[in-house]
Amino acid sequence: MLLKNGNNIWNEFLTFIKDKCSQAEFQNWIAPINVVENDEDDITLEVPNIFVQQYLIDNYKNELSSFLPVDKHGKPLIHFIITEQKLEKIEKNIENNIDEEDRSTSVESRFNTKLNENYTFADFIEGPSNQFVKSAAIGVATRPGKSYNPLFIYGGVGLGKTHLLHSIGHHAAQKKKKIRIQCITTEQFINDLVDSLRNKSVDQMKRFYRTLDILLVDDIQFLQNRLNFEEEFCNTFESLINQHKQVVITSDKPPSQLKLSERLIARMEWGLVANVGVPDLETRVAIIQYKAEKKGIRIPSKIAFFIAEHIFNNVRQLEGAINRLSAYSSSLQNEITEDIVEKSLSEMFQYVPQKKITVENILKSVSSMFNVRVQDLRGDSRTKDIAFPRQVAMYLAKELIHESLIKLASSFGGKTHSTLLHSWGKIRDQMKKDELLRRQVQMTKQNLEK
Ligand code: ADP
Ligand code: MG
Repeated sequence: MLLKNGNNIWNEFLTFIKDKCSQAEFQNWIAPINVVENDEDDITLEVPNIFVQQYLIDNYKNELSSFLPVDKHGKPLIHFIITEQKLEKIEKNIENNIDEEDRSTSVESRFNTKLNENYTFADFIEGPSNQFVKSAAIGVATRPGKSYNPLFIYGGVGLGKTHLLHSIGHHAAQKKKKIRIQCITTEQFINDLVDSLRNKSVDQMKRFYRTLDILLVDDIQFLQNRLNFEEEFCNTFESLINQHKQVVITSDKPPSQLKLSERLIARMEWGLVANVGVPDLETRVAIIQYKAEKKGIRIPSKIAFFIAEHIFNNVRQLEGAINRLSAYSSSLQNEITEDIVEKSLSEMFQYVPQKKITVENILKSVSSMFNVRVQDLRGDSRTKDIAFPRQVAMYLAKELIHESLIKLASSFGGKTHSTLLHSWGKIRDQMKKDELLRRQVQMTKQNLEK
């Protein structure tokens, strides 16, 4: 099929391109292309399908122009022949000859994506940041296709999106044994499509997806910039929704912020868009205690708070911390103490880059935490409701601002440095025994650093 000189030019192009893309990309996209005809004026390439043609043009237009004949505008002169069209008839015949048994085994093999056993609703700790999305997830798992469709779950890394997705799968499967569920990452969907294109089994794949009861798709953000696949995904998606089959999608951003076609974004916004937020301190503590208990280790509440205060925006990291602690404490056969935590976890702790902290910021943050006015904190009132928060502010000022005590004290409406020192000592001592105060101080600090 290959012609002599056409082959040469094409081979030169291939050699050049090989270094420009990954091996998988090369195998999937470039290698299947054949040169059918080539002369000085143009080149005819045979491609297995339209996706490959588009891929080549989208990604390598400039390179193609340098190697192949071009028109007067500098555009590469390529004719494409699509193998699929040529083979369509043959394919049809082959397909008709596949007996039903063969077909059903290949269909079942798509069910390989296992649901993670640990990702169930029962194992998902609820708090204000995820209550809504959890109940929406339970809703669709209980009545697939009948409540929100699609359910679109978005949120940052390690906050439980995949966990919720799998929980939906478990829950629905438990309620109805014969339900057809496919839980798949976007990457797997793309690979499946690529494989089907190569094996000329796209119809089979389409048929499979269109017979599902529930499609769970993880990390749709990976569909961005994959133009060739977006359309197929969108078709699958629409066809399921039209049949009232449940679709659930997760993403790191809400639909409107994804770089996808307007059509797909609009479809994804059809149902319910729900956010998984960062769990608050109490929820993080509950997660730590739950996971520790499952591993058979006991973490005293004080320690759980200590960890939760320092690892705050990713539940996966909290788990990592527990695993580390568990290894540490079992090797030492020790009870978990603050000391062990410091030793084993310090490099995991998050220290937010320090913003420049001023007495002014501290006063504002304390004023909103304790619900008092900044001017009262600066004033002379000795009533407890005001004097106590003032002492907290002084404590924080001494802890967080490296300035002379005299200067700091004067920023509190002209107090003396011994007042400031006294306040600092008092709060420091009280924090040792007063859990609530410790948390209030911690939260005031966190607000400051935002
Ligand atoms: P994402 O997909 O959002 O990146 P994952 O679902 O993979 O996050 O969650 C990361 C880890 O944190 C998982 O092991 C999961 O079980 C756990 N996790 C997240 N949120 C919770 C929660 N609310 N309760 C219990 N475990 C959670
Ligand atoms: Mg995930």
